Amino acid sequence: MTELFHFPENSPSKNWIEQASLGHIPHAQLIVSKNGGLAWPAVQRYVQILICAQGGCGRCDACTQHRNLAHPDVHYFFPVIASASAGGGSDVFLPEFRNFMKFNKFPVVRNWIDALDASQKVVQISVKEAKRMGNILSLTAHSGGYKVLVIWLPERMHESAANKLLKTLEEPEDKTVILLLSHDEEAVLGTIRSRCQTLYLPPLGRGNVERWLIDERRMDANQAKVLSSLSAGEPGIALDFLENRERLIPLAEHFVEWLRLAFKKDLAGLQLWVDQVAAWNREQQRDFLIFSGEVLSQLERKRHHALRGFALDWFPEITFNADGFAKLMDHQKVLLMHQTLDDAHKDIGRNVNARLVFFDASLLLMKAF
Ligand SMILES: [Zn+2]
Repeated sequence: MTELFHFPENSPSKNWIEQASLGHIPHAQLIVSKNGGLAWPAVQRYVQILICAQGGCGRCDACTQHRNLAHPDVHYFFPVIASASAGGGSDVFLPEFRNFMKFNKFPVVRNWIDALDASQKVVQISVKEAKRMGNILSLTAHSGGYKVLVIWLPERMHESAANKLLKTLEEPEDKTVILLLSHDEEAVLGTIRSRCQTLYLPPLGRGNVERWLIDERRMDANQAKVLSSLSAGEPGIALDFLENRERLIPLAEHFVEWLRLAFKKDLAGLQLWVDQVAAWNREQQRDFLIFSGEVLSQLERKRHHALRGFALDWFPEITFNADGFAKLMDHQKVLLMHQTLDDAHKDIGRNVNARLVFFDASLLLMKAF
């Protein structure tokens, strides 16, 4: 699994992994990447080097155990359903987690919550779990080597759990490594952050995601282009869209409808449209604006016959006169529309009222035609 992913030369991920080979191994580290980013494969490779006597050979017993998330000295902590009656922690949910990770090399938080069937529940790392972390670290390692704690989403630690972990961080045991993987650094307790060495792993990048989808995932070039363009450069997000195409359908439908209504200058229709989009959550609204921007750029390239794969071809169930609209997309119009989408994206991020944002954007789109 981990051996299959090749980190780009001189990337922060690759440099960090090399530090492990050189024996520069800080006791507590906070690894920050975006959701669906490189944190997990980088951490898995890093830990492999720590626990393998041959520096991460990929063939020995230790490497095999590690590949199956079953090495006795590597302990995983992750948020689970905080239900008082269940009382189970990461140890109880480990089989589910192993199965999830088998199919999610670049896990997306939302998909883990779905796997737990917990979309309506509190999903967190409990204080009991923090206690267990301390207990594990006080025991001797099975192999006599490193003991490793991998904690996914420290931002989802219950406050008293975070305070308990703090004690563990303050009294480092010999040959122990604590790796915290976060997608929301600001939400991690400040005192925990200040005791960790922090590493930022930037996105893999759209171009690299596209090549990876084609070379490693054997994906059709057009589809790889569409997915990478929507991925924000994170491979997990591209895979998430691939496996959850239905999440993109409402975005595609509403984009097509938006163009039609703005072109017809149908104000009443636009008002109804705004009502629908304003009812989505912020994350979905941002996805929509990014998706729309990408399709607009593609329409402009289509006008110049410079387009390889068209995003909406992925949705044969949606009727759209792409060639007709492409003809209308001169550079000036597209520029104005992109500006409108960018501004809307910023406003949504700033929590401006969504109805206002999308209504304004609709008027500007109408004007652009
Ligand atoms: Zn090995």
